[in-house]
Formats: sequence, C-alpha cells, structure tokens
Amino acid sequence: MANRKINKRDIEKLLSQWGQEFTVLAPSKESGIATMSKWNGKHANFLDWYRNTVIPPKGNFFPSMEKMFNFQKDKEGYHLELPASNEQKQLIFGIRPCDARSLAILDMTFKDAYEDPYYLPKRKNALLVGLGCTNPYDSCFCTSLGINPAESSDVDLMLIDIGDEFLIEEVTDKGKKLIAAASGVEEASEADEAKAKEAKEASYNKVTRKIDTEDIKRKLSSSFDNQDFWEGIAAKCISCGICTFLCPTCYCFDINDELAKGLGARFRSWDSCAFPIYTKMPMENPREEKWRRVRQKVYHKYGFYPMNFGVIACTGCGRCIRQCPVNWDITQTLDRLPAEA
Ligand code: SF4
Ligand code: SF4
Repeated sequence: MANRKINKRDIEKLLSQWGQEFTVLAPSKESGIATMSKWNGKHANFLDWYRNTVIPPKGNFFPSMEKMFNFQKDKEGYHLELPASNEQKQLIFGIRPCDARSLAILDMTFKDAYEDPYYLPKRKNALLVGLGCTNPYDSCFCTSLGINPAESSDVDLMLIDIGDEFLIEEVTDKGKKLIAAASGVEEASEADEAKAKEAKEASYNKVTRKIDTEDIKRKLSSSFDNQDFWEGIAAKCISCGICTFLCPTCYCFDINDELAKGLGARFRSWDSCAFPIYTKMPMENPREEKWRRVRQKVYHKYGFYPMNFGVIACTGCGRCIRQCPVNWDITQTLDRLPAEA
C-alpha cells in the first residue's frame, strides 16, 4: 500500500479523533519550557514554533519523580500497597527521530537485569507518531549517530513535511491500524513521495555538526587514566546535573522513603552522576573528584553502554550542549580525545 498524506490544517481534527482513544501528548510550553504534555484539545499551533522539547520524552515513561508504592508500619511489620497497573494508552505526537531512538536505547536498560514494572507498561501502551525535523539546531549531531532527522524506524508512524501536507509513513502494524481508521488522510502520489525524499535529504544536510565515531572506542580505552586531560575537560563544569537530567538516554535514579505516623511512600527520582553526592547514601561516592564524574558521563555513553548493549547511548540530540550553563560541549570533548595514550 502506498504511503498516505494529510493536509496540515487537518492535524487538529486528527488529534481530536485520536484523543477519543488515547491520552494525546503533543509539544507544548509549560512556564516557557517546551515539553511533551497533554494536548490542549484546541489547536496545533505548536507546528509553528516546535523544533524539539527541552524536557526529553523519557519523562513521559520515567518521570522525574514517581511513587513506587505506599506502605504502612504497625506492630506486625510493614504492609505494602502497590500502585494500580497503568493501562492508560498514550499517543505522543511529534516525537523527533533522535528522541524516538532514545526510547529504544532506554528500553534495553529497563528490560535488562529485570523488567521494570513502572517504565515498561507505559512503553507498551504508547504509540509514537514521529515528525521529521526541518530546522535542526546548530548543536544537533544526530547524523553522526546514524539518525536521519526526517526518518525513523523507532516510531509507529512517521510524518514528513512536504509543504502544505505531511506525508505519512506506516512504520509498524500498530501505526498502520491507527492511520487506517483516521479521517482526512488520502493516498500519497508519486510526486508526494519525491518531495518526501527531497525533504529527507535536505534535513540530513542541515545537520552540519559532526563527530567521528570510528575511532572513539580506541581513543577512550587509551585515555581512561589520562588525569590531566580529564581535569582540563572538566574544569568549567559546575556539576549542576542539567546535562544528565535533560539527556534523553540518562536513566540514573535515587530511591527515597517518606514516613510519618506509620504511613509512608517510596519514591524514585532522577539522579545524576554529575552530583558530588551521587551514590553517597549506600556508600561513599567512588568519583569524588569532578574530573572522574565528567569522565564517567562520557564513558557511560560512548564506552560502557556500547560494551553492554552494542549501541552508543547518545542520539546527538544536542540538549546537553544547548542547556549547559557554562557551554560544556560533548562534541568538543570527543573531538579532543588524545589519539594516543
Ligand atoms: S550541564 Fe554543564 S555544568 Fe552542568 S553538569 Fe553538565 S557539563 Fe557540568
Ligand atoms: S549526551 Fe547530549 S547529545 Fe547525546 S543524547 Fe544525551 S543530551 Fe543528547
């Protein structure tokens, strides 16, 4: 079956239709910060300003703070009350290909040593409708990580901007079913397909920042003990943790209990290897000096994750570059890795 297309002015109707079955999330601004939030049900004005969200979509599956369970303490001990299973169906409209890839990368962690009962049900119940980038940031370098900003195999449906319309690619069976029942869509012509091909090439070429991933593994393994290098790289970092909180593939969390008058709850919340107090609760921080923590961030993404899962845990989304208060730049660090030990 040929691809479909939809006129941009019919997107609101499409979202309303999907809203009858799903909780539709779309780009929106909360206190001026772009995030994927519940669609307002009124308009699709985000198409005019949206480039990418500041808060990555990992927050829709792995919230910054989440209650794990309630508990009660009495003379007989502790009694747990688990949360009701989450059957809510989410549809994320407008996810960028880099962020869709980040979820595929996170899935590996949350399915690895154990199946995470908080993240995985939300993932299972979600549909992803991707939207190709037409205006990537200077800080984006997704193409160096094998991602085309207007193409994705990590979504259910992929929309590509072809002028007044979006071409719709059906990527999964779930996506196929979703679009088969949608109103306002029509079959794409050969001319539309040609426009989509051009749009993909144009988007790809707009990403001009590059990193060389070929030699990174070797350079990382020979640079691990190069303290002078890492001290220089870490000098301006202020250990604020923003780069890790906003990174779509970072997943470290902390667990805390709140207890008052015998009633309590356990929460998990995002944590960051950039913090000096990271892991201090169970024992001391094995990375007390800042240069060790900055090194850890780089190695985790480009060294340890590929060792464990065979993929680099960075999508080149550029958030850590755009949002760092002191302009620390992971691409410069990778570029400056010494060629020899
Ligand atoms: S955002 Fe910048 S300053 Fe903050 S921890 Fe990351 S690299 Fe350091
Ligand atoms: S390390 Fe930076 S560029 Fe890479 S995925 Fe994380 S935030 Fe994006």
